[in-house]
Formats: sequence, structure tokens, C-alpha cells
Amino acid sequence: MSTVAIVTDEKFTIETPLLIIGAGAAGLCAALAATEAGIEALVIERDAVPAGSTALSAGLIPAAGTRFQRAKGITDSPELFAADIQRKAKSEADQSIVEAVAHGASALVEWLADRYGLPFDVIDNFNYSGHSAMRMHGLPTRAGSELIDRLRSAAETSDISIIPEAVANTLFTEPGDRIRGIEIVRGDGTLERIGCDALILACNGYGGNPELVRRFIPEMAAALYFGHPGNRGDAVIWGDALGAQLTHLGAYQGHGSVATPHNILISWAVIMQGGIQINTEGWRFCDESRGYSEQAEDVLRQPGGIAWNVFDARIAEVARQFEDFRNAERAGAILTGGSVEEIAAAMHVPAAAFATEWAEVEALKAISGQERYGRRFTPDQRCEPPFHAVKVTGALFHTQGGLAIDAACRVKRKDGIVFPNLFAAGGAAAGVSGPTAAGYLSGNGLLTATVLGRLAGEAAAAQLAG
Ligand SMILES: Cc1cc2nc3c(=O)[nH]c(=O)nc-3n(C[C@H](O)[C@H](O)[C@H](O)COP(=O)(O)OP(=O)(O)OC[C@H]3O[C@@H](n4cnc5c(N)ncnc54)[C@H](O)[C@@H]3O)c2cc1C
Repeated sequence: MSTVAIVTDEKFTIETPLLIIGAGAAGLCAALAATEAGIEALVIERDAVPAGSTALSAGLIPAAGTRFQRAKGITDSPELFAADIQRKAKSEADQSIVEAVAHGASALVEWLADRYGLPFDVIDNFNYSGHSAMRMHGLPTRAGSELIDRLRSAAETSDISIIPEAVANTLFTEPGDRIRGIEIVRGDGTLERIGCDALILACNGYGGNPELVRRFIPEMAAALYFGHPGNRGDAVIWGDALGAQLTHLGAYQGHGSVATPHNILISWAVIMQGGIQINTEGWRFCDESRGYSEQAEDVLRQPGGIAWNVFDARIAEVARQFEDFRNAERAGAILTGGSVEEIAAAMHVPAAAFATEWAEVEALKAISGQERYGRRFTPDQRCEPPFHAVKVTGALFHTQGGLAIDAACRVKRKDGIVFPNLFAAGGAAAGVSGPTAAGYLSGNGLLTATVLGRLAGEAAAAQLAG
């Protein structure tokens, strides 16, 4: 159980300038930045090999104004990016954090590419909803496992110490809210106390804590949790005990397109390129183009809590850039039919209803029309046989609420004053999605993990050096 204790004369086995809890994207970016600034960082990680939700993701980081965009003639700016984030969040995200991530993202992507050799490029054959420019940067496999592997290698090359198979269970504070250190439980059950001059919480949110999900996100309590099971809400639990400000706890990243029963993410590219979702009765049920996060709840409301993504061979080719999609094909999750009737039969949905929907959508595409839920189609989205379909469900990916921070990632107390030496980044901190799932703009997760991770490492290092 995670607890907070007040220190009297606590003895620590070891002392380190900077402690970081969690070796996902946030923790490793923080450690790299602090090390570059000359401050030794020690990272504590629950797993034997650091992976986190970062490894489960598509590894896509949105960034505006990068040289990768310029090379492909994409015009973009941090201001446009910040406006997109706030439009999706209905202006309910903290503007100072929005600006910090929107302005820090291009430098972050170029830093990881140039200093640590991560071979990013920008996806230019489809765009995610809500982004005014193509700005999703990914690695060759389009898989988060590649991102975390490369960050881990960078950490190794930089001689950053990671203690694996160690779970932080207690924070020790002094009167005056200064963090003094933590207690960890090693894999063999041994307890150890580590002192520090500053602490960065990079242990993500509470998606892996069913009790907290029930309390804060009851609508997703029964949903599949598709994130890392070790993210049990420790940052929120410690923050609550310390009197920290907790913000937007009901916000989360959902996803309405997880192949079932295979449990493989099917990229939203299949929808943005012109595919649709129907339920088991053959009907569409909402405007899929709003975004995949809010779509999770809509899919779960359909009969059996499932839907079918239907698209064509052109779209499948775009989706094939994602390792997950290729895995889904290998697992037999993607069905094929030579005609509308054949694909309806493969899905076991009523052919008449599906054919009506399909014909209406295809007719609207030809005239750039808008359908009854508000989705606007374009001629380049037209689909031709053979068709493909995949059965999907809605899932909870990660929570977006958490510790309120300032633009230097310092954790705020309830009265707004920052703790003297406590920082948070990534899923441990409140994100930039506002209070709901609908506020999540694609990429907000890794954006706040990587950019805020780097900022937290720099800020903690500057404080320790100064
Ligand atoms: C399937 C899926 C796809 C996604 N795709 C994308 C995408 O393409 N783009 C995007 O922007 N976002 C995406 N996301 C969201 C993104 O993965 C997360 O927002 C991001 O990885 C969070 O990074 P993090 O470092 O905060 O957390 P994590 O990567 O989860 O790392 C946290 C680490 O902390 C460790 N930990 C937790 N508690 C403790 C403790 N008490 N002691 C020690 N260690 C602890 C965990 O073991 C874990 O390794 C996706 C998420 C999922 C689940």
C-alpha cells in the first residue's frame, strides 16, 4: 500500500540528489535531461525491464514546427498546436501547461533524434482528428515498444542507474513539505530507504487501480483496461495524503478500436481514412471522426459492447505501417469480403441495414456531404472492394487527471503554492485534456510524458545545481 510518513530522524541506506519513480517515457526523459545537466539521477522501476504504458502505445508524439515537418513541406506552429489542444479540451486545460508542451514538443523530438539517435519521421499519409496539421512523429515500427527500448538504451549509454523490480511504497517528508526520501520493496521482499534532494513522480496514473477507476471514472469501471497494470495511482494517493492539488480526475484516454477478442490496437487511421463503425445490427451510431477517446464509451454502449470497423484495401495499406495492425492481420482479426454482402456475411450483421448505411456513406463521400451525426466525408475517402472488417471494443488506455503542476513541473499544494522539491510528469500529473475523455487530443499522452518529463528533469536539475 502507498503511504506518506513524516520523517523525524529517518536513516536512509543510500542518498541520491535526484530520485525518479517510474521508468516509462516520462521518467527516462527526466533522467536523460537531468544527467545532461550534470545531476545524478536514480530511477526506481516496478518491472524487471522498464516498459510501462509507453511500451503498449503506438509511440506517436505530436510536435509542431519540427525539421521533419519542414522536410515534407508541412506548415505548422506551436501556437496552432496549442489552439488545437485547447479546442479539444474545450479551453479547460491549464494554459500554462498547454503552452509548455506545445512549445517544447519540437525541441523534444529533435533532441531525442539528434542527441540519442531516435529515427523519428512525421506521418504524412493520414491525419488524426483535431490536429490542424500532420504532426504525429513516430519511429519506424510505429510501436511504443521501440520508443521505450530506444529510451532505455539512451539511459544505459548515459550511465543512468535504474533499480528494477523495486516498488516505491512510502514517501518520507519533513515538516515544511520537503520530500526526504522513499521506501522501496525489492522483488525479494527486502525493504530499503533511499534519501533524495528532489523527487520526480513519473509513475503514471491510476488506470491499473480498479477502486480508483470506479471512484473517478465509473463509466469505464467495467471496461477493458489496456494500459500497464503496474500504474496503480500511487502519485494520486501520495498527492492526496500530502495535501496536493488533484485536477480533472475524471479525465482519461479511452479508445474505441481495440480488436476483440485479440486485444490488439487497431489504428484510428482506418476511420480517418474513410472507414466507418457499425454495431452488430448493421447501423452506424455516432460521428466517429470526433476522436477515438470518446468513442470508447459509445462503442461500449452498443449491443454486446462491441462494434465493427469497416474499411477497404487502400485503408488497410495505410494502417499496415503500424506493427499492431500487422499483428492483427497475422492473428486473423481482419476479415475480408469481395462485396458489401460478403463482408456483411463475414461480420454476421444484417446485410440490408449495413448495405443501406454503406451506400449512404459512399454517396456522401462523392459530394463531400455530412451525415446525420455530423461527420463530414470527402471524395478521397471513397472505398472500393475488397472490403475489410474487424470486431472491436472500447477500452480505457490511461487516466489523464492527476497532480496539478506549474510550467516547471513542480507539484502544487491545495493552496497553489508549490512543494519545495517535488515534481511530476506524464500520467502522474494532470494532463492537457480538461475534465473528460472527449478532451483528449490524439497524442496528449506521450506529449505530456516526454515533454514534461524533460522539463521536470531540467527543472529539478537546475534547482539542485542552484
Ligand atoms: C495501447 C495504448 C496506446 C497508446 N498510444 C499512444 C500514442 O500513440 N501516442 C500518445 O501520445 N499516447 C499514447 N498512449 C498513452 C501513453 O502510452 C501514455 O500516456 C504514456 O506512455 C505515459 O507515460 P508515463 O511515463 O507517464 O507512464 P508509463 O509509461 O506507464 O511509465 C510509468 C512507469 O512507472 C512504473 N511504476 C508505477 N508505479 C510505481 C511504483 N510505485 N514504484 C515503481 N515504479 C512504478 C510502472 O511500472 C511504469 O513502468 C497509449 C496508451 C495505450 C495504453
